[in-house]
Amino acid sequence: MTRLAEPTLRPPFANYIDGEWRPSIEADVYEKRNPTHPHEVVGEFPASEKSDVDAAIAAASTSFRAWSATPISRRAAILQRAAELIEARAETIAMDMTLEMGKPLRESRIEAKRAAQTFRFFAGQAWSPSGEIYEQSGGGAVYTMRRQLGVVGLITPWNFPAAIPAWKIAPALIYGNAVAIKVAQDAPLTGLHLGKCLVDAGIPPGVLNIVIGRGSEAGHALVRHRDVAAISFTGSVAVGEQVRNVATAQGKRVQLELGGQNPLIVLADADLDRAVEAAFAGAFLSAGQKCTATRRIYVEDRIYKPFKQRLVARIENSVVGDPTDPATEVGPLVNEHQVEHVLDGIQRGRSEGGTIVTGGERIGAATYFIAPTLFEDVADAAFLSCEEVFGPVATLYRCTDLDDALVRANAVRFGLSAAIFTSSLASVRRFVQEIRAGIVHVNSQTPGADVHVPFGGIKGSGYGPHEQGRAALEFYTDVITVYEDT
Ligand code: NAD
Repeated sequence: MTRLAEPTLRPPFANYIDGEWRPSIEADVYEKRNPTHPHEVVGEFPASEKSDVDAAIAAASTSFRAWSATPISRRAAILQRAAELIEARAETIAMDMTLEMGKPLRESRIEAKRAAQTFRFFAGQAWSPSGEIYEQSGGGAVYTMRRQLGVVGLITPWNFPAAIPAWKIAPALIYGNAVAIKVAQDAPLTGLHLGKCLVDAGIPPGVLNIVIGRGSEAGHALVRHRDVAAISFTGSVAVGEQVRNVATAQGKRVQLELGGQNPLIVLADADLDRAVEAAFAGAFLSAGQKCTATRRIYVEDRIYKPFKQRLVARIENSVVGDPTDPATEVGPLVNEHQVEHVLDGIQRGRSEGGTIVTGGERIGAATYFIAPTLFEDVADAAFLSCEEVFGPVATLYRCTDLDDALVRANAVRFGLSAAIFTSSLASVRRFVQEIRAGIVHVNSQTPGADVHVPFGGIKGSGYGPHEQGRAALEFYTDVITVYEDT
C-alpha cells in the first residue's frame, strides 16, 4: 500500500454525511491505486450508491434553514478558518493528491494553496454588496437582494481535485446553500482533505456532505434528486450534456464546465523563448490533463522552423518521471482507461496523415506514462484537430498570418481557453475581439486562472453562469426584487 502523507485523515476512508464519517449504507468499497505504481493501493473508498446520496441530501435539506439564517460573518469565519487549515496542511494535501492521481508535486502544491486562496476569497465576499437600491417610480423604495437556492449538488472531476471542489463549495456555502458533493472516484482523498478542513473549521453537521462513488450511480442519483435545486458539474462534454438534459428537465439550475480544444497562436513578432516555454507548459504539464491545456499550436510560417526546433528540444529535455520528485515536470496519466484513450487519439492522428515529431508511445509496458507527443501535418478537419484528447498530445500547424490562425482556431465546437504570443498591440486587440473562448491569454499559456475573476468556457465548453469571482453569485443565488412602501 502507498504510504500516505498523513496525519490529518486516516483510513477507513468514508463519506461525510450529516456530520459523521460513514461507510456506504449498502455498497462495498473500491481500491484506488497509485497511477505511478499501479500495483500500489492508495486506499479503499466507498463505492456509494443512491441510498448514500439520499442520506446526504436529506441531511443537507434539514440543515439548510439554520445555515442560511446563520449570520454571514459566522459563515465567513468558518471559510476563513478552513482556508488557514488548508494552507497549514497544503503539503499533506499536495502529496496525497500526487499519490492518488499522479499530478507532479510541484503543481499539486500550487493547487492545494490555491484552494486555500479560494476559500479566503469567498470568505471576503461576505462583505461585498449583493443588491441595489432604487426609488420606485411611484414613490417608496425598491431594491434587489440575493437569496440562496437551497441544497446544491456539486459534481467534480479528478484532474483538479482540490481547486474545483473548492471553487464550487466555497461560494455555495458563503451564500448560504447546503451542499452535497460527489467527488471523483479517481481522486477522492483530496476531496476528503478539504472536507476535513471544513469540519475542523466548525461547519455545522449536514451543511456539507461528501459522497464518493461512480458517476453512473452516485452522480446520477444526485442529478435526479428532486430536493436538489441546482447542479454544478465539471467534467467531459458527453457526461455534462447528459447531466444537463436530466437536470433541466426537472427545472433545476445547471452550470457545466466541460472540455476544451485550446489553441495557441504564435506570431512572427513574438518573443520566441517565452512562446516555446508557454507551448511546452500549456501542452504537457500535468501530462496534458487540464481542460485548458494547449492542444493546437498555430505558428506563423516565417518562424515555424525555429519554433519547432526549440519546442522539440524543450520537450526532449523535459523531466518525465516520478511525480513525487519536485523536479518532475511530466508524470503519469491517471489510469489505464485514460492511457488507452490517449493512445487511441495518437493512433487516429497517425492514421489520418499526421506525422509524429516527437513522442508518440507509452513509456514501459505496465505504466501509465505516455511520452510528451508533438504532431504536425494534421489536417484541420482531422480528429486530433477537432476533439479533446485528454493527455500529453499537441499539434503544430503552419499559419500564414493572424487572419488565417483566427479562422482555424475558431473552427471547433469548443471555446474554453485560447492564447496568443505577439508584440503587436493591434494583433492583441484583434485576437481578444475575435477569438471565441471564455478565457483569453495574451503572452501567457492557455492554462492558468486566478480565483477572483470568472472562469468558464463558451460554445460547447460550458453552459450557464461562469464560476469563480463575483460570477459565482449568479449561479448560487436568486435575484429577488423587493418593493417597499411605508
Ligand atoms: P467525467 O465527465 O468522466 O466525470 C466528471 C464527474 O462526473 C465525475 O465525478 C464522474 O464520476 C461524474 N459522472 C460520470 N457520469 C455521470 C453521470 N451519468 N451522472 C452524473 N455524474 C456523472 O470527466 P473526468 O474524466 O473526471 O474529467 C475530465 C474531463 O473534465 C475533461 O473533458 C476535461 O476537459 C473536463 N474538465 C473541464 C474543466 C472546466 O472547468 N471546463 C475543468 C476540469 C476538467
